[in-house]
Amino acid sequence: MNKLMDWQYSDYSKIDPAALKHFPFDNPRDAQLETISEIIDAINQGFKYIILEAGTGTGKSAIAATLANIYDSSYILTITKQLQDQYLKDFEDFTLVKGRSNFKCKSYLEDNVLQSCDEGKCIVEGHMCKYSMKNENPPTCPYYRQKCIALNSKSVIANYHYMFLELNYVKDFTKRDLLICDEAHNLESMLMTQLKLEFSKKELKEYIKYDLTYDEIYDLNNGSYSDWIHFIEEIKSKYIKELSKIENVSKVELLQKISSLKQKINDCNRFITNINFDPHSWIVDFDEEFEILEFKPIKIENYAVNSLFDYADVCLFMSATILDYNLFAKWLGIPADEIYAIRRKTPFDNRRNPIIVPSGYNLSRFNIKVNAPKTIGLIEKILNDHKGEKGIIHTVSGQCMSYLMDNVNDNRLIAHNNKNRSEVLEEFRQSPNPLVLVSPSMDEGVDLPGDECRFQIVYKIPYPDLGSKQVKARMQIDSDWYDYKTSLRLVQTHGRGMRYEDDFCKTYFIDNRLKNYVLSSKFIPQDFKNLISPHDNVKTNMLIVEGENYLKGNDLEKAIMHFKKMIYDDVDDYRVYLNLSRAYHETSLYEEELQVIFQYLSNHPTDFKHFKKSLEMLEAMGYFDLAQMD
Ligand code: SF4
Repeated sequence: MNKLMDWQYSDYSKIDPAALKHFPFDNPRDAQLETISEIIDAINQGFKYIILEAGTGTGKSAIAATLANIYDSSYILTITKQLQDQYLKDFEDFTLVKGRSNFKCKSYLEDNVLQSCDEGKCIVEGHMCKYSMKNENPPTCPYYRQKCIALNSKSVIANYHYMFLELNYVKDFTKRDLLICDEAHNLESMLMTQLKLEFSKKELKEYIKYDLTYDEIYDLNNGSYSDWIHFIEEIKSKYIKELSKIENVSKVELLQKISSLKQKINDCNRFITNINFDPHSWIVDFDEEFEILEFKPIKIENYAVNSLFDYADVCLFMSATILDYNLFAKWLGIPADEIYAIRRKTPFDNRRNPIIVPSGYNLSRFNIKVNAPKTIGLIEKILNDHKGEKGIIHTVSGQCMSYLMDNVNDNRLIAHNNKNRSEVLEEFRQSPNPLVLVSPSMDEGVDLPGDECRFQIVYKIPYPDLGSKQVKARMQIDSDWYDYKTSLRLVQTHGRGMRYEDDFCKTYFIDNRLKNYVLSSKFIPQDFKNLISPHDNVKTNMLIVEGENYLKGNDLEKAIMHFKKMIYDDVDDYRVYLNLSRAYHETSLYEEELQVIFQYLSNHPTDFKHFKKSLEMLEAMGYFDLAQMD
């Protein structure tokens, strides 16, 4: 048995009074209070790192809010704006702190110049601004005003990027009791992004007239880290020289350049400090499409604790997909004996979110050319089966997206490019038409509840891109990482269309390797594997869900017709009989209810447990004698 198989769902059942007292809503679920209590218990036992994998619908943000209420000071870090807004909407005691670019510089406004605070007078001109935090209390600079409120508030919400820079370089924010990292499965890649250093070929030319040649890129690629530092120092000194030339020229059109140069000089200094700390964990790469030279870490296990986790006494990592807490912690440099891991199931009914595996096609690198044309008919059939519904086709790559857009004959398809992703997503969400969004990048961070997505097509196995030097280098030192990332992406993709209890969404696999991949992955939870069932079972499940929706909507006549038809069609499943008997019960047709139950039990006497409650109720009403059942 591998280690992961040992990670059972928590059966912790104690409730700490503090959990109940500080819960932000009126009706907490037992599972939420138990999870909070287990976390408090773990903290009291001295664990610094708590890892919580809790499926969609477990109410992770309410869990975070309760803990933030209990402890004296906390940071809650999130990735998406959507999640930040959600926290603010639900929990009014939290303070959101945003980066400078979200505010307009008051000092420049007085000169009738409209500039954001990241290009504010204090940054660009080194101006000792009277509206800043140093010179006014409370400050009237809009950026500093909100920052000052956050500094004095008990619970602060921020994005990872902002807080990483603040904690490490600005240092106005200091250590707190609790650091809560939401969507923590992204933490490693988030920190990798924070640490990297980029030079755009176009910007180098524009700012310092530096022509980055392909020979130079080649040499850097084959050079050692001391060559990289030499290169970066050279660029930095050119930045400094250029800055000294324009810094005192008061021209509005230079403001952005001055601010950018200062930022770049800071970035170079930070990078040199960081790379010296663990020089062999880095690569240099050149992005041909955007012409950007990048120095990137391939792992951050020697950086995460110092640069983030040391800024709190306790760190809580929350996500619906941690998958393997041992590896998650190892890759973040967290000592194994300081972890306490909790796994909690989604309360949603998985049958409402089935995975359907039609006879697909092998879309491996070697087969895709031959097999891709054969997938078109299958996709068109699925689209036809979902005629009036919105859906997503997850393509993994831009190339696949273009191929499907060019070949699938359906005018409901829409796609996006690198620049208009958000606009196209919004158009898709808002449209009353049954559009189908074709995209390589909607696999996470996008919630599509209800009618916004009723079906998804996963075209290929979403392996990380081996064209990326960073991915390739990481895979060479850590083969588990590649598999883990693929599994993570698949599980995340599957969750996009099922966002609340009564929601439903079907997911189809086109690449016929997907089924085996899922079933043999050591990272994908068994519950997810169980969703892959033969087409007939899936069909039965969906029909049952459809009938249950009639019941929930109190359309009893339709529910009765629907389940009677299923029995007529020889569907031999206790849920069909149970639901039909319930429909009869609601209609006060108790005799019919009894008949249906007996009809099923005559062939399946061992399934009595499912009907016991109903029979007891009918007995109490005098309809029959339970003792005579034997
Ligand atoms: S502190 Fe003053 S100069 Fe700096 S961004 Fe704020 S208003 Fe502008």
